[in-house]
Amino acid sequence: MKKVRTRYAPSPTGHLHIGNARSALFTYLYAKHFDGDFIIRIEDTDTLRNVEGGEESQLTYLKWLGLEWQEAPDIGGNFGPYRQLERLDIYQKYANELLERGLAYKEYREDSDKFAIRFKVPENVTYSFNDIVRGTLKFESKEIEDWIIMKDNGIPTYNFAVVIDDHLMEISHVLRGEEHITNTPKQIMVYNAFNWDVPTFGHMTIIVNEERKKLSKRDTDVIQFISEYEQIGYLPEAMFNFIALLGWSPGGEEEILSKDEIIKLFDPTRLSKSPAMFDKNKLAYINSRYIKMLTNEELALKTKPFLLNANIEIKSDEWLLNLVGLFKDRMHFIGEIVQLYKNFFREDFVLTDESINILKEYNSLELLETFKQNIYNLEDFTDETKISEVIKETGKAVNTKGKALFMPTRIAATGEISGPSLPNTIVLLGKEKVLKRIDETINNLRGAL
Ligand code: GLU
Repeated sequence: MKKVRTRYAPSPTGHLHIGNARSALFTYLYAKHFDGDFIIRIEDTDTLRNVEGGEESQLTYLKWLGLEWQEAPDIGGNFGPYRQLERLDIYQKYANELLERGLAYKEYREDSDKFAIRFKVPENVTYSFNDIVRGTLKFESKEIEDWIIMKDNGIPTYNFAVVIDDHLMEISHVLRGEEHITNTPKQIMVYNAFNWDVPTFGHMTIIVNEERKKLSKRDTDVIQFISEYEQIGYLPEAMFNFIALLGWSPGGEEEILSKDEIIKLFDPTRLSKSPAMFDKNKLAYINSRYIKMLTNEELALKTKPFLLNANIEIKSDEWLLNLVGLFKDRMHFIGEIVQLYKNFFREDFVLTDESINILKEYNSLELLETFKQNIYNLEDFTDETKISEVIKETGKAVNTKGKALFMPTRIAATGEISGPSLPNTIVLLGKEKVLKRIDETINNLRGAL
């Protein structure tokens, strides 16, 4: 069998968008699953739309997502060059051949000796191809007008260049977005004109937002550029996992899958025929699962830049480990640590009615007074086992245990009725803050009695 070779062919018009990332990722999966090569080619012939740094940014974020390639403009390869503007003489040669064979013709600009080249669309031909995602698709040549393959500035149009390149680069499978379906018959007629094998095509469905409308760059409530996800602390492994589920399903129940597992499980017949919904809660959930898989040390390292950037003082390595240990289960993205930190250490300590009612229900006044005294007496405030003892002793002194002990002490220290380990929380808050909060809780409770 012929070697599988796939390509992702971005136009360097901006940062890597979630839609492009998906095309790239499935193209990559296809190659890797079938032991093939994955190639990147830059389609920069639409020169007005190219932006500076566009190519670099695309490659940077594909790499960040975990894609590796065998050939691309940054590493070269046997089928280069890999930027279309560096291949103009190649397109010219093939366009000339079509002119000579009468399969294309010149179209002069008015009052000028400059000309574009148009492809002569054959009459009465049915172009049909078997799309990996959609099955057989058919187009009639009479629906297509003669179209420009070379502009009068010597730059080819997309539909021409893409065929020359895919053929010369020995691309076996082309996966791309559904907006390219109607381009495919034009491309097939060029393959036919040169008597070249046509690759296998697969056109992935659109991505829709939660209102089931096509995801658009104007949907401001959906973050759409991979760089933005990196900036707020999404993990590349989670992004890879999530994007792989945009229009494909692994079949089994488990959706949290590593890159290697996905490569192994990948099955092009499971590419979805209906639009892929971009569910941002699902993305946040998947990311939270990957955060939980990190060790506290790894997570601490990742949170550091976010904390420093928010001018939060990292008191010690141990302090940071304790902090991330407490919040690990609540984080959806690494940058969320800043908000969690701020809520946790907030100065405007407030008790909800629900909390006050619980304190009343358990008759907590005496308990809290004792708790405050015991906390005040504790000298070593770094060891959570000491805090545990203080809580127990407090309970013993007022003859209280279980919920009646743990709920009021938690409310007094944190204002909340549930949360991570209380002794750890208290160590992290520090003596001064905890005392102040117990005091405020007692005042609040007195006022409510
Ligand atoms: N440069 C085209 C795009 O960005 C590539 C289409 C294709 O894969 O053929 O949409």
